[in-house]
Amino acid sequence: MLVPALFFKHTGTLVDWNDEYRSVVFQANNRKFAVPINKTFTDDFDRSTGTWKRGALSTEAIEFQGEIFVPVVDVAKKLQMDVTYNSQQNRTFITTNISVKPNVFAKGQSTEKLVALTFDDGPENHYTPMILDVLKEKGVPATFFVVGQEVKTYPNMMRRIVNEGHGIANHTWSHPDLRKKWSSEVRKEIELTQQETQITVGRRSDLFRPPYGAYTKADMLIMNQLGMRNIMWSVDTLDWSGLSADQILEIVNRDVSPGGIILQHNFQYGRLLDGSVEALPRIIDDLQKRGYRFVTIQTLLEKQNTER
Ligand SMILES: [Zn+2]
Repeated sequence: MLVPALFFKHTGTLVDWNDEYRSVVFQANNRKFAVPINKTFTDDFDRSTGTWKRGALSTEAIEFQGEIFVPVVDVAKKLQMDVTYNSQQNRTFITTNISVKPNVFAKGQSTEKLVALTFDDGPENHYTPMILDVLKEKGVPATFFVVGQEVKTYPNMMRRIVNEGHGIANHTWSHPDLRKKWSSEVRKEIELTQQETQITVGRRSDLFRPPYGAYTKADMLIMNQLGMRNIMWSVDTLDWSGLSADQILEIVNRDVSPGGIILQHNFQYGRLLDGSVEALPRIIDDLQKRGYRFVTIQTLLEKQNTER
């Protein structure tokens, strides 16, 4: 049976493409080997000698409509995973033996009435200044999950975000679905953005949010290796879909709780965020009336650590 090579990222295996040898390179459980396309052998890396050796493969890997498919049982066994077939259920089970410590926060654990506003996908120069004006007028900090290539395009807006006391966080370089990217590309998406914020505002964040909130176990491993904390959300305003201010306000008031992380956006494609900008001062007023205090994600997570 063949599965997409990238399927193995869900097991925690790093999966890469070697263009020179036209092969998929798998790394996990202290093993590394390459599966070339249309060959019935593998190239296995021998760590003790630093050389590559030929290995056996029952079925060849193929490329189909731009995607690489590999024999699932062969690859799983080479990664020292247990593969068992349950004939009653007619299912094959793979036990990975790979543990990746999750470093994910959907909210702070503070019992204090703290809440964090987060804005994804910027900076840009249409909505971002309006959002910053509101935050400034209300004296409220937020956290901006920035896309590296936008930082490069709008460096002045990036500087304004930082100069006005807001938190920044990494939201990849080009906003891809990480599940569909080779592991080396995932790493690059994070690292390039770290470099760009360092160049632009002289600092980098250890906070990361994957586009669409989507990632595999192997992507989580890379985040851990790079020392990034993975920040999700507890209140999804759905503002990107063009909701009105009233609809957004209703969602926030319904779903907010102490330690809450509110997901909003600041991108300008399609100009869908008028409702979101209109809702912002009302969200702040409503939550402050209910006793909430606004903090950056950094502060929200610090509070969590001290209370443990
Ligand atoms: Zn995004």
